[in-house]
Amino acid sequence: MPLLIRGGRLITATDDYAADIYCAGETITRLEPGIDPKSLPPGTEIVDATGRFVFPGFIDPHVHIYLPFMGTFAADDYASASRAALVGGTTTLIEMICPGPADEPWEAFELWRAKAHGLAAVDYTFHMSVVRFEERVRDQFRKIVAAGVPSFKVFLAYKGALNLTDEHLFAAMKVAQELGVIVTAHCENADAIDALQKALLAAGQTGPEWHGPSRPPVVEADGVHHLCTFADLLGTHVYTVHTSCDEAVRAALAARYRGVNVWIESVIPHLVLDETYAERPDFEGAKYVMSPPLRAKRNQEVLWNGVKSRAISTIGTDHAPFSFRGQKDMGKEGFTRIPNGIPSIQERVDLVHTYGVAQERLTLNAMVDACSTQAARLFGLYPKKGAIRIGSDADLVVYDPAYRGTFSKAESHSNVDYNAYDGWERLGRASVVTVRGAIQARDGKFVGTIGRGQFLAREPTH
Ligand SMILES: [Zn+2]
Repeated sequence: MPLLIRGGRLITATDDYAADIYCAGETITRLEPGIDPKSLPPGTEIVDATGRFVFPGFIDPHVHIYLPFMGTFAADDYASASRAALVGGTTTLIEMICPGPADEPWEAFELWRAKAHGLAAVDYTFHMSVVRFEERVRDQFRKIVAAGVPSFKVFLAYKGALNLTDEHLFAAMKVAQELGVIVTAHCENADAIDALQKALLAAGQTGPEWHGPSRPPVVEADGVHHLCTFADLLGTHVYTVHTSCDEAVRAALAARYRGVNVWIESVIPHLVLDETYAERPDFEGAKYVMSPPLRAKRNQEVLWNGVKSRAISTIGTDHAPFSFRGQKDMGKEGFTRIPNGIPSIQERVDLVHTYGVAQERLTLNAMVDACSTQAARLFGLYPKKGAIRIGSDADLVVYDPAYRGTFSKAESHSNVDYNAYDGWERLGRASVVTVRGAIQARDGKFVGTIGRGQFLAREPTH
């Protein structure tokens, strides 16, 4: 059905102006002030956006939905994750394909695609994790890139599980450079963490409050420096995921200033939660265990200022949903067995609006850039996604900045038994969310079609 969004204030990464948007099908076909509804075909759906912002659909560049991890599986599937994403204004997800070291990469790619197909209501694509890179499997990665996934994920963390040897890391980054593939990286020194974890556990320091001390900021900064050294030698474009602290941001910026092609992602838990949450008594801190860990509060201003100055390119979530009962409590005897993750896919945009824009830490333009446009540019989706332009996909968020409420488990669509932001003040909400011209969410309710989401095949851009 054709769609007219009228009377709104359009906010992109660079512009702020009044105009109406008409979508004849799945893309934006007219963009001008005062489109007369009488000039449109009968049956056109009209959305009144008076007093509202209209944003390009938000993109989350770092999520986990199907995730076998630490002996269990993340709690969402594409249906629940899509509902959560859409009511929160996110219309495109980039999920990490995370196979185990013994799995064949191409089979993993097909498995992850199968998990999304038929259940996604958002559009989606993937970053392909490289957990080993011997000669035998390299052609599989070339095939995956050719199939539309020109971005890798590597882990410098998780010794004995996901982390790559330096030999394989160098080889993977070399092939990435040749193919124009950007390498996203979890930057923490795996061996240092392993040694610190063993020492803490041996000293009887087993609670969730010891997760943070087992991976201090210098360990992350070391990982960033290491990745950037290889990028410096090879010319590969790299992207540090969930960059959590001043030390790590500085390491990335120092590399950038010497010419390394490095981009920085931060994720919403690090912008609004600090280490005291992971120190909560009675094991409640386990709800707030993720890696890198939540940091000292002073780091939050560094991250907000990084986004404001656009030194930090993107705000994702690292959404990785594990329930408190039955999953997080696998780590009752030792923090190293607590599944990592703080689900945030539904709350990200409203948290950035409430604690960034409304507190004058960010402009609306910077919010759109960090939560949508930069991810589209870096990962080959722009201007199909991340823009309000004629010809762009009609992924649009009509946003009510005057809405007042609180975040709560009751309103959460994710399949977990807690909400990390429960009871927090919330300023603003998506009123209407469209994906390729069809309304998928209204006022916190999913009204769309499960299975309508499409795989986005991308071209190498670096
Ligand atoms: Zn992640």
